Amino acid sequence: MKDLEFSKGAIGIGESIVRHVKFGASEIGLDLSEVGFEQPIEGRIEFFRLTEDLFFKGELWTSVRMVCRRCIDPFVSDLKTTFSLRFSPTVHSAENDDLTNRSIDGEVVDLTEDAQQSIVLEVPCWPLCQHDCQGLCSSCGTNLNDQNCFCQTDLTEASPLGGLQNMLQSANSQEK
Ligand SMILES: [Zn+2]
Ligand SMILES: [Zn+2]
Repeated sequence: MKDLEFSKGAIGIGESIVRHVKFGASEIGLDLSEVGFEQPIEGRIEFFRLTEDLFFKGELWTSVRMVCRRCIDPFVSDLKTTFSLRFSPTVHSAENDDLTNRSIDGEVVDLTEDAQQSIVLEVPCWPLCQHDCQGLCSSCGTNLNDQNCFCQTDLTEASPLGGLQNMLQSANSQEK
């Protein structure tokens, strides 16, 4: 993908450039069944060169629509990811920093796949609309984030004050 292609000869040793990018998820082959992209992916990629090695520091962001695993409501969330890459004429296999080391293959370095992977890794495997999502009542299916149901108060209902307690609870939940 053109926005993510950098030619080796574009900068000299010790130089750097920053490129701002904006592209659709499908342009980098992202097609995730459980995630909808609400807006294009935007980002900032810094490309610099030391000796014969090429370095990239990327930052990408977008917003995605997912379905909450607990309450099955769709929600939109920001998604942000960063990546660091190093391309060398000879791969330094002994490197143990957080850079992904790769060998330079040809005149052009294409980061399309790296951007794709970086975003995929950021997608939560257990998306929740909020960290304390109350989910759905297993008996009546009420979304407990929106309202209370009376399924769990069956026991208290048997006592004389149970009905009063339920009324107070529903009054409380309406005040929220
Ligand atoms: Zn939820
Ligand atoms: Zn219920």
